[in-house]
Amino acid sequence: MTRILLIEDHAANQELMVYLLEAFGCAVSTAGDGEKGIEAARSESPDLILCDLQLPRKNGYAVLSELRADPVLRTIPVVAVTAFAMVGDRDRILGGGFDGYIPKPIDPETFVSQVLSLRAGNFRQSPGPR
Ligand code: MN
Repeated sequence: MTRILLIEDHAANQELMVYLLEAFGCAVSTAGDGEKGIEAARSESPDLILCDLQLPRKNGYAVLSELRADPVLRTIPVVAVTAFAMVGDRDRILGGGFDGYIPKPIDPETFVSQVLSLRAGNFRQSPGPR
């Protein structure tokens, strides 16, 4: 079972993503701000982290850099899920060190397959943006 930590402050988005991921058999935990997200990553060591960029207390870039600075947590893939969808945002996000990028609003039909294609094992076999 894939264990996913979802860091997202928008309740409706959080509910929809949890619903979809659980429907496909993932175990999902949630955090509503960046600091709680880092705490949850430490206590749960998830297989994959989905992280919003605009978050209270610590934004997604700060969360990512803290995870990457931690010797235990640095190998966990972190995927940005964000409403930033302007030209160049994808490159900026991947260039910033995220392992992948899923634009919001999410597409319920394809969201889970997008996530699972980025989970730990698969990702390590095909690193880097395509
Ligand atoms: Mn947000």
